[in-house]
Amino acid sequence: DQTVDDSVFAQHESEVRSYCRSWPTVFTRASGSWLTDQSGRQYLDFFAGAGSLNYGHNHPVMKSALLDYISEDGITHGLDMATVAKGRFIETFAEKILVPRGLDYKIQFPGPTGTNAVEAALKLARKVTGRESIISFTNAFHGMTLGSLSVTGNSMKRAGAGIPLVHATPMPFDNYFGGVVEDFAWFERVLDDSGSGLNRPAAVIVETVQGEGGVNVARAEWLRALSELCQRRDILLIVDDVQMGCGRTGEFFSFEAAGITPDIVTLSKSISGYGLPLALTLFKSDLDVWTPGEHNGTFRGNNPAFVTATRTLEHFWSDDSLTRDVHAKGQAIHDAFTGLCETYDGISTRGRGMVQGLVFDEPTAAGKVCASAFGAGLLAETSGPSDEVVKLLPPLTISHDDLDRGLAILADSVKEVIG
Ligand code: PMP
Repeated sequence: DQTVDDSVFAQHESEVRSYCRSWPTVFTRASGSWLTDQSGRQYLDFFAGAGSLNYGHNHPVMKSALLDYISEDGITHGLDMATVAKGRFIETFAEKILVPRGLDYKIQFPGPTGTNAVEAALKLARKVTGRESIISFTNAFHGMTLGSLSVTGNSMKRAGAGIPLVHATPMPFDNYFGGVVEDFAWFERVLDDSGSGLNRPAAVIVETVQGEGGVNVARAEWLRALSELCQRRDILLIVDDVQMGCGRTGEFFSFEAAGITPDIVTLSKSISGYGLPLALTLFKSDLDVWTPGEHNGTFRGNNPAFVTATRTLEHFWSDDSLTRDVHAKGQAIHDAFTGLCETYDGISTRGRGMVQGLVFDEPTAAGKVCASAFGAGLLAETSGPSDEVVKLLPPLTISHDDLDRGLAILADSVKEVIG
C-alpha cells in the first residue's frame, strides 16, 4: 500500500479545499459505511459523500457490474453517443422509476454534476417561457456555477462569485417564519402589483428539504400550495432533488409524498449508486424544446456510471424494501435525537427519512460536536447558514448496529460539548 505525506495538500492544493479540514486525515479505502485512512484507522460514515453514496461505498452488486464492464472493454467515454450502457439505463429508469409513478418525463444528461442539472433546468425554463427571472428560496443551495449560485441563498457562497449574479428573487422557505404561511396569496398580490418591481418569473426552484441550508423541511401542504400557485400563474416548478432524491427521504423522488408533479426535476449525487458523476434533468415532454446541440458538453454520458446506476435500480428499486428500511432507520435517528433534545437544553431536531438534523442554539456547538465525533471515529458534517446544524446523511444501507454505534458516538460528543 502506498501512502502520501499529508503536507502535499497544504503545499500544492488551493486554500479553497474544505472537507479535508473537517476530517484531517488521508483516506485510502472504503467499504459499506466505513472508510479507512492511511494509518489503518476506520471511520463510520454518517455523511455518505454529501448524499452521493446512498448505497454505501463500493457496494458489491454494483462493483461486480463495473468490474465486468471494464474487463470487457465497455465504452468508458462516449460523448452523448448511443451506447448499450446508456440505453439500458434509460430503459431501466423508465421501467423502475418513471412508469410506476405515472411520470411522463423526458430525460436529459446535462453534464456530470448536480450544478449541471440545475443550469440546464434554469436555462430550459427561460427558453420555454421567454421570461428571465427565477424565484428561489431563503437558505437554498443549488450549486456553484453562476446560474445555480444565483438561486443559492448562502451569502458566503455567493460572495465567491465576486460579481453580480443572474436575476433571481428569494422568497421565504416554509420554515423561515416557522411554517405559518399557509398559501401564496401574498405572493400573487406582489406579482399583480405594477409597483412591486417583481417581474413574472420563468420558474420557481425549490428543494423539498434544504440539505445544505440546515435540514429545513417543507410541509407537504406548503409544497402543494406552491405547485398550485405555479400552475395557476403558468410558472414552471423545478424541484431540485440532487441531494434529497434517490431514496433519501424514504421515496425515490422527495416530492412524491406531497403528491405534486414538478415540471422539471434535477437528479445527481446518488443516481449512479456508486459515487460516480452522473446527472439528469427530467422535464415534461412538452418542454422538450431545445434543438440538437443547443445544450451540450463533453461529459454527458458517463457509461461506467450508467452501468452502476442500472444495477442500482434493478437491485434496490424493484420493490419497496429500501423505502421501508429508510422509514425505520429515519425513525431510529429521530428517536435518538429526540432523546438528546429532552436531555439537554439548547438543541432541537428536524428532518425527514434519513436526513436528520440536530440544531444547536449556540451555533459553534455543532462544529465542536462534529470535531469530537471525528476524534471518536465518526464522520458527520454541519450545515445551515451559521453551521448550527449537525446534518446526518448515513448510507441508506447502513446496518442497524452501525447506525446505533454512530448515534452513540454522537450522543457522547453532544454530552462532551454541551452536557
Ligand atoms: N442541488 C442541491 C440540492 C445540492 O445539495 C447540491 C450539492 N450539495 C447541488 C445542487 C450541486 O451539486 P454538485 O455539487 O454535484 O454540482
